[in-house]
Amino acid sequence: MQKLAPDFDFLFNNLNKIAYIFTDPVHFGPVNQKMADFCDRKISELEGESVAEILNQKKVESVKKFNQNIFKEGLRQSAKMEIEINNQLYTIEVDTIPHHNQAGKVDYLLCLAEDITAELEKEKRFYRNKKRYSSIFKKAPLAFVVSDRETNIIDWNEKAEEIFGWKKEEVINRNFNLIVAEDSYSEITEVIENVFEGQKSYNVNKNIAKDGSELYCEWNTALIKDKNDKILEIISIAQDISEKIESKKRIQNQKEELKYSELRTQFFANISHELKTPLNLIFSSLQLLEYKIKNTEFEQKNNFDKYLGSIRNNGFRLLRLVNNLIDITKIDVNTFQLHRANFDIIELIKSVVESSRDYLEAKSRNFRFETSLDSEIIACDPFNIERVILNLISNAVKFTAEGDEILLRIEKEDGWIKISLRDTGIGIKKENQDIIFEQFRQVDQSFNKKREGSGIGLSLVKSIVEMHGGKITLDSIYGMYSRFNVYLPVETIDEKTLTAESYSADSLLDKVELEFSDINYI
Ligand code: ADP
Repeated sequence: MQKLAPDFDFLFNNLNKIAYIFTDPVHFGPVNQKMADFCDRKISELEGESVAEILNQKKVESVKKFNQNIFKEGLRQSAKMEIEINNQLYTIEVDTIPHHNQAGKVDYLLCLAEDITAELEKEKRFYRNKKRYSSIFKKAPLAFVVSDRETNIIDWNEKAEEIFGWKKEEVINRNFNLIVAEDSYSEITEVIENVFEGQKSYNVNKNIAKDGSELYCEWNTALIKDKNDKILEIISIAQDISEKIESKKRIQNQKEELKYSELRTQFFANISHELKTPLNLIFSSLQLLEYKIKNTEFEQKNNFDKYLGSIRNNGFRLLRLVNNLIDITKIDVNTFQLHRANFDIIELIKSVVESSRDYLEAKSRNFRFETSLDSEIIACDPFNIERVILNLISNAVKFTAEGDEILLRIEKEDGWIKISLRDTGIGIKKENQDIIFEQFRQVDQSFNKKREGSGIGLSLVKSIVEMHGGKITLDSIYGMYSRFNVYLPVETIDEKTLTAESYSADSLLDKVELEFSDINYI
C-alpha cells in the first residue's frame, strides 16, 4: 500500500470531494472518508481492495480498461460513471489524475469524484420542463409576449402573431409600445411600474395590430427573476376580448334603445289619446251643425255643405291616423288584441266591396270583384279584416289613375283563403317591395307628396294578417301593376273572443269614409 506524506494525508482526508487512489488499474490505494461514506463502507473495507467490491463485473472491466490506458499513456482524464450502491443508481463524475514517479512512470492514479446524481436529475427535469413549457408557449391559445427590463420584446408566440399581425422576427428588439394604442401608452407605463413594485398585474388595454386595427386585450403580466431577485424578463399574457367588449357595448346600446323605444311608445300612446278627445268633440259638434244646416234653408247653403264636408273628411283623416298610431303602438308593445269569432269571410269581404263601390265609382276606377266561393267560415276579427281590405283598396285607388283597373279576387288555395287585390297602377320597384311593409316607410317621398299617407297602413295590415296566422305577399312590376295577396288560414275556433252577433256591418260606411279619407281629401 502506498505511504503518504503526513501533510498529503491531511489534505486528502479534508478534501470536499470523494477521493481515492488506484495503485493499479483495479485496486484501491488510500480512500478518503467521503469515498467511504459514498460507498456506504468503512475505509478499511475499501483500502487495498479491488474495485469489484463496489462494481459489478462488467463495470470492473471497463474501469480496468480506462485505468490501464491512463497508466500507459500518463494522461489525465475525466469520465462520468454510473454506480449502484444499496440498489440505488448514482452518477459520479471522476477526474483521474496520473502520478508520475521520478523515473517518469505512472505509479498511481489519484481520482477526485463528485456525485452529480441530483444535479443531473435537476438538469433532466429542467429540460423536461423547458420542453413542456416551450410547447405551451408556442401553441397556447393566449398571446405570450416576453420582453426585457426595458420592455423590448425578446420573444412571442404564434397566438401573438395571429392577434397582432406581426411575425416574431419583425418584433424582436422592438419596444412593447409597438402593439399599444397611443392613448394607452401612459396606462401601460403605469402597469409596468406597478408590476416592478410587485403589485397586481391584470389590466385591459387598447392595443393596435400591424394593419392599424384596434383591439382590446386582457393582460396578465409577471416578472421572471433570478436567484438574487434580479429581474430577467417580463412575461405578458394577452387574450383578445374585443368581441366581448363589442357585445357588451352592443347590449348597452340595445338597452338604451329599448329604454328609448319604451319612452317613445309611451309618448305615442299618450299623445294619441290626447288627440282623440278633441277629435271626438269636433265630430259631435260637426254632427250637430250638419243636422241644423240640413233643416234650415238659407243662402249659400251649398258652400256650407262643402266646408262641413271638408271638416268631416279631414277630421276622419286625423282620426284614422290617430287610430293607426295607437294600434301600431299597441302592436309594438304586444298589447294589441284581436277579437276573433267564426265568420263567413266571403260575405264579410262582399260587404266591404259593396260599401266601397260608390267611392270607387266616384274616383272612376274600373273595379271588379271575382270569386267562385259562396261561403267560407273562418276564424277572424271582422273589424280588423275590414280594415285590412279597406286599406289595400284605398292604396290601390291612391296609386292608380282614372280608368285604371282594380281587381279583388278570393280563392281557396292549399288550406288558405287567398284574397288578392291587383291594380294596374304605378307598381312598386323590386328594391322597395319589402320595405313598404315596414313602419313609416313610403317609397318615393317626392312622388308621394301628391298622395297623402303616413306609411303606417301596410305595416299595420301585415301585423293584423300575421296575428291571424296568415301572411301577406306582393308581386308587382314597376309601371305595370301591383298585386297584394293576403292569405288567411282556413280554420275555425271554439273559444271565441267575440260573438258573431256582436258584429254588424252597419258602421261600415263610416269606416269606408274613414279609410278613404286620405284619397278623398278636399
Ligand atoms: P301610406 O299611408 O303612405 O299609403 P302604406 O303603408 O299604406 O302607407 O303604404 C306604404 C307605401 O307603399 C306607399 O307610400 C306606397 O309607396 C307603396 N304602396 C302601397 N300600396 C301601393 C300600390 N297599390 N301601388 C303602388 N305603391 C303602393
